[in-house]
Amino acid sequence: MRGLFARCAERHAGQPVEAWLVCDHRFQRRFGLGHSKPWPLPLGWHLRSGYLRRGRTLQELAAACGIDAPGLIETVRAYNLHAREGLDPPYGRGGTPYDRMQGDAEHSGLNPCVAPMERGLFYAVRIVPGSLGTFAGLATDVHGCVLDAHNQAMPGLYAAGNDMASIMGGHYPSGGITLGPGLTFGYILAHHAAGQALPVPQVHSSTPELLAA
Ligand SMILES: Cc1cc2nc3c(=O)[nH]c(=O)nc-3n(C[C@H](O)[C@H](O)[C@H](O)COP(=O)(O)OP(=O)(O)OC[C@H]3O[C@@H](n4cnc5c(N)ncnc54)[C@H](O)[C@@H]3O)c2cc1C
Repeated sequence: MRGLFARCAERHAGQPVEAWLVCDHRFQRRFGLGHSKPWPLPLGWHLRSGYLRRGRTLQELAAACGIDAPGLIETVRAYNLHAREGLDPPYGRGGTPYDRMQGDAEHSGLNPCVAPMERGLFYAVRIVPGSLGTFAGLATDVHGCVLDAHNQAMPGLYAAGNDMASIMGGHYPSGGITLGPGLTFGYILAHHAAGQALPVPQVHSSTPELLAA
């Protein structure tokens, strides 16, 4: 994301920060692209709304997206050159076991995370930056009660999810680090609020100091 901002500021200063996620017909029908789902779900609605762009050639796709056609053609050419060998030098897709585990388990090639994009139709969706969570939030005690400026629980005020300072302390070890704690601490605080406090160990205090860890 930081790279996207930096690149757009450098090359397209003053214009919206955006990127295009591009694939061929085979990929879209097998895996889907963004919100457009794989076969057998239809694509018409996404095409009509303008969410999903389509072209028989890369040139046509670039026109449908309003982007530079030679730039797109060159980007895909450079990508294909390495993808045929199962490589992705710029981004290293498939370079970690975590990556490969999320790739195509049935892919018989060298790298389950990359494949050349050689035949149309081609598709694209516009990618814009968004936020899915935050590490900041209200400090809570082990029951999810919000702490005041003197680290005292404020009776009746609880926080969980993004409103609670994240127990991850500013790190992102894996997917699930917002929903997992959100569900867990929601469960704990709901019991406390209902007067049925769970016997939670005194090991966690979600304080802003964690953010500095
Ligand atoms: C695309 C995407 C993918 C994600 N993938 C993952 C993932 O794989 N794993 C993971 O752990 N997390 C993931 N997340 C993050 C996770 O979904 C959120 O962090 C989580 O849902 C936050 O839960 P929450 O209850 O704190 O807040 P929210 O789910 O945002 O709930 C807040 C609610 O408050 C309501 N609200 C806001 N203001 C008011 C108001 N003034 N009055 C009344 N109601 C109000 C909102 O409408 C909303 O319903 C993803 C997020 C996105 C966007």
